[in-house]
Amino acid sequence: MSDVTIDDLPVRDELRGKSPYGAPQLDVPVRLNTNENPYPLPEALVERITERVREAARHLNRYPDRDAVELRTRLAEYLTRTAGHPVGVERVWAANGSNEVIQQLLQTFGGPGRTAIGFEPSYSMHALIARATNTGWIPGPRDEDFTIDLAAAERAIAEHRPDVVFITTPNNPTGTAVPRETVLALYEAAQAARPSMVVVDEAYVEFSHGDSLLPLLEGRPHLVVSRTMSKAFGAAGLRLGYLAADPAVVDAVQLVRLPYHLSAVTQATALAALEHTDTLLGYVEQLKAERDRLVAELRGAGYQVTESDANFVQFGRFEDAHAVWRRILDRGVLVRDNGVPGWLRVTAGTPAENDAFLDAVRELKKERY
Ligand code: PMP
Repeated sequence: MSDVTIDDLPVRDELRGKSPYGAPQLDVPVRLNTNENPYPLPEALVERITERVREAARHLNRYPDRDAVELRTRLAEYLTRTAGHPVGVERVWAANGSNEVIQQLLQTFGGPGRTAIGFEPSYSMHALIARATNTGWIPGPRDEDFTIDLAAAERAIAEHRPDVVFITTPNNPTGTAVPRETVLALYEAAQAARPSMVVVDEAYVEFSHGDSLLPLLEGRPHLVVSRTMSKAFGAAGLRLGYLAADPAVVDAVQLVRLPYHLSAVTQATALAALEHTDTLLGYVEQLKAERDRLVAELRGAGYQVTESDANFVQFGRFEDAHAVWRRILDRGVLVRDNGVPGWLRVTAGTPAENDAFLDAVRELKKERY
């Protein structure tokens, strides 16, 4: 054993005393804490992945396609089909999860001496990746009901003139959708202030009541829409995220991507998954119905719930949210404490998992939590 700690190492000053991203990975019967899709991949897809990976394995002596052209073409087709708007391969870029997409964007458009803003509470990795890329982070405002107050957000953009603006819709952890007009107004505000890049994080868009903002890309070269196969596609373990933007943005992120960043195995697996898009997305309607059931039953049980357009629900309010998180865990159900005072978040799971969660929180209500 070594008794050297991080503090003994010459790590960068801005990383000193900080903690890594850490959603608990606990072995409990019901895990509803990281917004995954609860359904395993269908057997036919497992077979197809195996075939494609076996084929890829024959060529592992060679580096993979550095530009992942076939994969990006299939992703572009998926976007074109679902957004009802033509998206060409030259507008699509892929990486290891949308976290890596965001990292590449901040490496390209953020960095030392530059800043990024997000409207908090929101996805905590935006701020953490900003820190890791030495980009200054500006916590932007949100209203009491977790919507974005346009006037306040515009003021923050005008005041700070950030280089990158993050808009997460539906937002994590609150589930709140951002109206299209708000995104358009914030884009204009960001252009007037600097101009800055506006990154719309649509990780949960397939669960939304509204449409994707992809059609807004036309004529807006500073707009980026970021997506993932981790949620609606049910492939969090695959690590595949992607973006759609002006072709110039795709050229720009290639300045920072590591060569061959998407392994041949990842590309083969993602291509197999994209052959089964309809089956994978078949769970989306069911998960949306389960989300709506969670909202209704939580309200029925006397909890407050934030309107959700995602596959999760924020519920409260608690004097001590962490104590309630612990009590739910004691009943075998893992939900998420995102550190939003008074609130917890639960991911829509299978009907049986959601029942276990609802039983647990109803019991707590009896104990006056
Ligand atoms: N954006 C948002 C809003 C998220 O909630 C997440 C995952 N929790 C991600 C991006 C990153 O997902 P991934 O890296 O798995 O694509």
